[in-house]
Amino acid sequence: MFNRLTTQLLKELTDIVGSHCINTDEERLEVYSHDEVKGEKYKHMPEAVVFAESTKQISKVMAFANQHLIPVTPRGAGTGLSGGAVPIKGGIVLSLERMNRIVELDEETLTITVEPGVITDEIQKMAAASGLLYAGDPCSSDASFIGGNLAENAGGNKVVKYGPTGDHVMGIEVVLPDGTVDFFGGKLVKNVTGYDFINLMVGSEGTLGIITKIILKLIPLPEFTVDLLVPFKTVEEAIAFVPKIMIEAHTIPASLEFMDNASLRLAERFLNNELPYSDSAAHLIIGIEGNGREQVADEYEKIGQMCFKYGAQEVFVADNRNTREKIWKARKSIAEAISAFYPDFCMEDVVVPINKIPQLMSFVNELSQREHIETVNFGHAGDGNMHVTFLSAEKTDKIWNDKVEANLKQLYKRVLELGGTLSGEHGIGIKRMPYLPMALSQSQISLIKRVKRAFDPNDILNPGKIC
Ligand SMILES: Cc1cc2nc3c(=O)[nH]c(=O)nc-3n(C[C@H](O)[C@H](O)[C@H](O)COP(=O)(O)OP(=O)(O)OC[C@H]3O[C@@H](n4cnc5c(N)ncnc54)[C@H](O)[C@@H]3O)c2cc1C
Repeated sequence: MFNRLTTQLLKELTDIVGSHCINTDEERLEVYSHDEVKGEKYKHMPEAVVFAESTKQISKVMAFANQHLIPVTPRGAGTGLSGGAVPIKGGIVLSLERMNRIVELDEETLTITVEPGVITDEIQKMAAASGLLYAGDPCSSDASFIGGNLAENAGGNKVVKYGPTGDHVMGIEVVLPDGTVDFFGGKLVKNVTGYDFINLMVGSEGTLGIITKIILKLIPLPEFTVDLLVPFKTVEEAIAFVPKIMIEAHTIPASLEFMDNASLRLAERFLNNELPYSDSAAHLIIGIEGNGREQVADEYEKIGQMCFKYGAQEVFVADNRNTREKIWKARKSIAEAISAFYPDFCMEDVVVPINKIPQLMSFVNELSQREHIETVNFGHAGDGNMHVTFLSAEKTDKIWNDKVEANLKQLYKRVLELGGTLSGEHGIGIKRMPYLPMALSQSQISLIKRVKRAFDPNDILNPGKIC
């Protein structure tokens, strides 16, 4: 049903965007044929990449694509872990990398307005320079773009206290698949005027519209931050402790991260750096933020004492920038370390209610032993969101692919039994699409398809994704 970009159509497209905004060189196209998901089956070459420079230009590209039935795949930084930015049906990859301006920081409304190609870290830095916090903090924040964060409703290290990306979005400009430009929301704390299209766009993985401008909420930057690094002798003890912090210490930490021994070792090897107690079966990172020095000290002392009561081997207090950075560098480098040391892997993103993490982790342990598959486990324990990762020491082949598929099915089945779901933050994309019917009913899937048709009747925007 889609058309290819013939020489004539390519000429028309070049006339629309200008020759400096389009590329069809094979070598260049290759870069835009995949994201961070491993494996040849998650690669597909586009016919052209358009480097968008303005909303107006994107609107014209979409009108052209809609008229000629050419698929368009929006792309941020390509750090996605679901194949969402892969142009599985060919056509145009629409890169947002040149739309990277911070438009305005408005201290009076506590908002920052940005284009979609701004790197997440830049937003955090700009806000911090004004004594404000942008609380979105995925581990890929030094590379991923804010537009990609919205499209995936990215989570990260501060969700437990501040919520995922969507919780920080107040307004968005969107180009719809037919080229119409619309604006949803504004610098408004509340808004129930019509359906909540912002929250429909957030997490829609680039299938409903292209996000071209974003108003984000900022909050006052906490004055004091302390991170605790807490080793445990067993994974079970570490994981069982997670819900206790919130229930018994009456505290919502800013971060509550989990690393098993294998993931910690990989990070250490990757960074050529050592963390204390690296023989321990598991480490938690517990972040505490607040405005009073004494209040923060009280909280971390209370949590520290609880750690010992629940079996911690030690509690390391990182209260200066250097030690805090060392801990977070290790945590944030795990995904990159896996990619560096394993020719193939399958990184998952399952999420369960936080009181079910112990059952999830004991199932993963059993699965790994029973099926003889190496795993590494880490993640956002405070959100019940674990990155269970299957590792292969060999390059991909059919045997490995079949083995991963069989193990994924077992993992998802157990996660669903525990009241969880397939993805907490990485999205469905193409990678998890075959498994969606395990998690959603037929009527839910049909509703997704009907919403998609309402926005994009010709199915030209990021086709072949989600369901
Ligand atoms: C080392 C590493 C660590 C990571 N850590 C985390 C983490 O802690 N938490 C987390 O949630 N994720 C994490 N991720 C996954 C990834 O970084 C996030 O999903 C991120 O939000 C993707 O942003 P991107 O700019 O790279 O988007 P891309 O990968 O380019 O695209 C992702 C999806 O968004 C769509 N899209 C991109 N821009 C737009 C736009 N402007 N309008 C509409 N659709 C758009 C694309 O079509 C695609 O479907 C990690 C990835 C890596 C490699």
